[in-house]
Amino acid sequence: MTTTHDYDAIVIGAGAGGLFTAARLAHRGYRTLVVERLDKVGGRASTTEIDGFKVNDGAIVIEVGGITQQTCEEVGAKFEIREPSPPILYRIGGKDVDVTGGGWGFLLGKLTRQGAKLVKGIGAARNDSGLPEDELSTADWVRKYTKNEGVHGIFRNMCASVFAVGSEELPARVFLTYFTRKSAFKRFGFHPDGTIGLWNALAEAFVGHGGDLWLSSEVGQIHVEGGAVTGVTLTRAGNRQTVTAPIVVSDIGPFATLDLAGRDAFDDEYVALVEQRNRPCAMIAVNFASEEPLIEAPGMLSFAQTSRLAYLANFTGTCPEMAPPGWHLYVGTSVPEPAIGDFDEAAETALLFQELRDNIDGFDEKARVLSTTITRDGWPPQRAVAGFDLPHTTEVTGLWNVGDAVKEYANGGTTACAETAQLVVDEIASAFPRA
Ligand SMILES: Cc1cc2nc3c(=O)[nH]c(=O)nc-3n(C[C@H](O)[C@H](O)[C@H](O)COP(=O)(O)OP(=O)(O)OC[C@H]3O[C@@H](n4cnc5c(N)ncnc54)[C@H](O)[C@@H]3O)c2cc1C
Repeated sequence: MTTTHDYDAIVIGAGAGGLFTAARLAHRGYRTLVVERLDKVGGRASTTEIDGFKVNDGAIVIEVGGITQQTCEEVGAKFEIREPSPPILYRIGGKDVDVTGGGWGFLLGKLTRQGAKLVKGIGAARNDSGLPEDELSTADWVRKYTKNEGVHGIFRNMCASVFAVGSEELPARVFLTYFTRKSAFKRFGFHPDGTIGLWNALAEAFVGHGGDLWLSSEVGQIHVEGGAVTGVTLTRAGNRQTVTAPIVVSDIGPFATLDLAGRDAFDDEYVALVEQRNRPCAMIAVNFASEEPLIEAPGMLSFAQTSRLAYLANFTGTCPEMAPPGWHLYVGTSVPEPAIGDFDEAAETALLFQELRDNIDGFDEKARVLSTTITRDGWPPQRAVAGFDLPHTTEVTGLWNVGDAVKEYANGGTTACAETAQLVVDEIASAFPRA
């Protein structure tokens, strides 16, 4: 059976990018439909319940005081993110150090006498002339100042935590732009329901503004006629349906969008660029719990002396609701080498477990592993490496992309999704003004 519905806008995917966009569109009065293949919202930033533990599928920390919070306030979505204090400790020479308020100088000064020079190099990047050329990797940029392994470890783990690649894979220009010009996750926290709590709140605000959210529904085709989008065909509860709309926003990445719209709808140059930049990165996460506390950091713990373990997060330090009473919930995360392209899953997972054992006393006896997840390929931690993103616009009238393959330069994760959503909705409002 084919039913036809009419909307002002259709959003494909209820991930971070899709929901930020949809909530803004509905708030501005566009009759909007969100179509999501899964039976829950949040996509790669959602949460799964395992034996009473709220285990995050991907994103764990949400930025506070930036575009995410601002979007929630604008559309009337609850923003219940709890900030740990201090937010992050760094394990340097066996001690967990709080560098809050001390900045780069204090952190790097703990590791090397070259700290001041490095801080000067970071400071110089505040002017365009101080930014290195595109080809220089973050690791090579650090090498210009120091060989100190701890410093390299800190930079590697920062690249891994924020951008889901190693420091050899991230252009220094991206790293320095992020830390000198972007909000850079200076404040962040966890949601007590797991990260899905934020997306449930946005979905609630979206529906409150008259939006429709169809879960367990999959778009199979985007229709384009005469260079303009006209709607989609989807499957919902076993029925194929056609939904028409002059605006379609895709949150599934430009590569999958090409498949749904057909390559003929785009010029060859754009198709070639999308195919060439389809280089998702990878991450490995071990979610574990214990009846006694395993780390002292109340939020995040990062490392100077690890080769894979980028961070540990202590969820129950601020959000005890995420675990059954008496239990503590953690995640330990690594980025494999290489993070882009093929890697040995078994060897990389073994390395992460080894570093969990090396850094947590009695890990094997005390920790109950809830899940080990490898995110890569079609379900990656970032669909595009920062610095190599695609444009969010397309040459098809009424068709936009959002999400972490079309980030603004040098941004990452859910914050980048919120930023692009704002830009896209502003462009929609000027191209398709509400009557
Ligand atoms: C392990 C890990 C840790 C991370 N840590 C952080 C962090 O701490 N902080 C942070 O900000 N970011 C983090 N990230 C990154 C963040 O999760 C992503 O950048 C973000 O969630 C991407 O959102 P998106 O909207 O671009 O895409 P997605 O989340 O992939 O959303 C796309 C949605 O579209 C749906 N879909 C796909 N095809 C169709 C179709 N044909 N029809 C209908 N629906 C469809 C999918 O099911 C999905 O729900 C992490 C990611 C991972 C994996």
